Amino acid sequence: MNRKRFDENVSIDRDYILSLIDGAKNTTRQDIDRILEKATHKKGLDHAEIAALLEIKDPDQVQKLYEVSGRIKRDVYGNRIVLFAPLYISDYCVNNCVYCGYKCKNKFNRKRLTMDEIRREVEILEEMGHKRLALEAGEDPLNCPIDYVLEAINTIYDTYEKNGVIRRINVNIAATTVENYRALKDAQIGTYILFQETYDKPVYEKMHPNCLKGDYNYHLTAFDRAMEAGIDDVGAGVLFGLADPKFEVLGLMLHNEHLEKKYGVGFHTISVPRLRPAEGVSLETFPHLLDDDMFKKIVAIIRLAVPYTGMILSTREDEDMRKELIEYGISQISAGSCVGVGGYHESMVGENIGQFEMADDRKPIEVIDDLIDNGYIPSYCTACYRSGRTGEKFMNIAKSEKIHYMCKPNALTTLMEYAVDYGNEEFLEKAEQFVRDQADEIDREDIKKFTLDNIDKLKAGIRDLY
Ligand code: SAM
Repeated sequence: MNRKRFDENVSIDRDYILSLIDGAKNTTRQDIDRILEKATHKKGLDHAEIAALLEIKDPDQVQKLYEVSGRIKRDVYGNRIVLFAPLYISDYCVNNCVYCGYKCKNKFNRKRLTMDEIRREVEILEEMGHKRLALEAGEDPLNCPIDYVLEAINTIYDTYEKNGVIRRINVNIAATTVENYRALKDAQIGTYILFQETYDKPVYEKMHPNCLKGDYNYHLTAFDRAMEAGIDDVGAGVLFGLADPKFEVLGLMLHNEHLEKKYGVGFHTISVPRLRPAEGVSLETFPHLLDDDMFKKIVAIIRLAVPYTGMILSTREDEDMRKELIEYGISQISAGSCVGVGGYHESMVGENIGQFEMADDRKPIEVIDDLIDNGYIPSYCTACYRSGRTGEKFMNIAKSEKIHYMCKPNALTTLMEYAVDYGNEEFLEKAEQFVRDQADEIDREDIKKFTLDNIDKLKAGIRDLY
């Protein structure tokens, strides 16, 4: 078995990953069966085993992979799906990322929202029912400095619409310093999200020519600096389409392990964006585009490899793909998204330049309705982070699987709150029945009672219960 010694400093050993990929070429059916059986114990897999699963081709074994990942998904996450929306605050960017519509080479009128404009965007998001946002910005130390980002975070948390506030802001901004991460921590962000884009260094350098973001090691060590600053929920990802997807999955695993060993906790979430067409970006020029079949396998394999790490899927994927992947991997999805600065207001009144093209433009209420029809609990829950259950503390609870007793009632309560505040009579009736049916399935009387009592409290006007 191919093993690797632990290195205090994160390093993605390219030759080692290539040797894993190469070594997996001779994987047999028996190997796969054994690894799938091991995965059912939810203790994760080693590098060579992950590399072997990436070789699965036989349709029966692919099916078995989905069955096992589906079972793990249900054991760990129940039938809950967390919902959020992105909020783009600035598209100024000094970088020239080959794949991105915001590259500085693209000439268009760049925008940075004023605090009033941020308030207007947030009010629209709140009117849709959102409680969790992912704040997004291009990298530009002059036009989008950290002080502006911090002010934006304060403005968002302070913006009230008649039904409430945004309760959690995850932040996806460029790699930065320990000092800036400390300031983000003090501003009470949820997860700090940063995609490595690609773990393959030569490809990384090619994809980021002449730009601040071009320093592979600075980007790769961003989570170490965030952890040092006290941010213990970090969200990783790669942009599938840039390099060999097998390399990327193994890169993610090595990175995760480094954080686990050094800080006691790995990634809180993994996002799985696939490259989309964008302004000045044509997909034909990328030799590693990830097809649907391999993409699905990768989601399932990540679920097996890191059962307790949340997985995020955005509106880059269409409705059908999103529906399928929540069955065996994905635990969080965005809904009703705009991926342009000021996009929520502008989508009501006119045109907008997005960072890339989206594939699912359903409104949150449509997504929520559909999730309920398919037996999922749409959740706007933010309880863990607001109760201090983050980082290692969160992971320990998640691994004990007692988390269902917290997550299910809280998820059902946020769904009921949504239905009372945003649903019409028909939707409210349907959602309440669903919440009651789901509460009935809870096998602890006190938790069941808590959930059912919350229905009455919400109807009586009490909010934000957890
Ligand atoms: N500027 C920050 C940074 O450097 O990490 C935030 C990045 S951006 C707002 C969020 C993510 O969108 C990027 O990390 C990238 O993976 C993804 N992205 C960029 N162009 C894309 C495209 N054409 N298709 C799909 N995703 C894209």
